[in-house]
Amino acid sequence: MTTLVLTHPACLAHDPGPGHPETPARLVAVLDGLEGVGGLDRVEAPRADETTLAAVHTPEMIETVFAAVPESGYGALDHDTLVSPGSGDAALCAAGAAIAAVDAVMTGRAAAAFCAVRPPGHHAMPTRAMGFCLFNNAALAAVHAREVHGCARVAVVDFDVHHGNGTEDCLRGREGFLYASSHEYPNYPGTGLQSEDGPCRIVNVPLPRGTDGPTFRAAWSERILPALDDFAPDFLIVSAGFDGHRKDPLSLMQLEAADFGWLTLELRHLAERHAAGRIVSVLEGGYDLGALAASAHAHVAALAGPI
Ligand SMILES: [Zn+2]
Repeated sequence: MTTLVLTHPACLAHDPGPGHPETPARLVAVLDGLEGVGGLDRVEAPRADETTLAAVHTPEMIETVFAAVPESGYGALDHDTLVSPGSGDAALCAAGAAIAAVDAVMTGRAAAAFCAVRPPGHHAMPTRAMGFCLFNNAALAAVHAREVHGCARVAVVDFDVHHGNGTEDCLRGREGFLYASSHEYPNYPGTGLQSEDGPCRIVNVPLPRGTDGPTFRAAWSERILPALDDFAPDFLIVSAGFDGHRKDPLSLMQLEAADFGWLTLELRHLAERHAAGRIVSVLEGGYDLGALAASAHAHVAALAGPI
């Protein structure tokens, strides 16, 4: 079976403005980076229905995001979350890709899927957009897997260098979920110090500035992967942020593309053990274009390659 890559040209039309790190060129770099990865089936993502966004966001939040989209120029949801005329459509395609990826994997259309989309989602809270993120694509996919497809235990794992505070808040208090994240601390958004044993299990592993590949791998091997094995998810969602790369301008972590490939293979093994291999990955951060292309290549090659 092939690995699906879901993307949409509308995701290029979300423009937070000149000098903003979350540039449309990121998506071009990611798609360029996937050239040469075998076994991929690239398809156009559908748009999410606005009503499906309410699975994790309040009606007021959804209305606020679309109301901020300008007819020309730029609008602002917070000081670093800017929108352009194409942003609403891009956000619907990003959320739609994540939801459709779950459908494709659950119905056996694909073994696994990667959503090459933007805007990213893991900082988007139930009640507000923030941190370059409009709607929480990963949380929407996770809730869709459980509520529409009847998955009993859905894990969202997040290796973006920033804590996915939005995903944590979208899933907190919901039965049948686990959210696990490694992230640089201190760094934006300043959360992710505590783990929680609630209905949604939360496993946060803050890592100091300057963390290198061996330390990153040990943190996952010793603290996050065992918690995931204990939870035994029947579906795995990955918030794939590549901004922990040593060249990334938004962090001081010292990861290499190969570290993302290593973790992806570990997550695939985990999905094989518990979830019949079902895994959907959604692009989050990554702001050095060359490092982003190489890291996305390593990630998707590990997602699609032999296990
Ligand atoms: Zn990030």
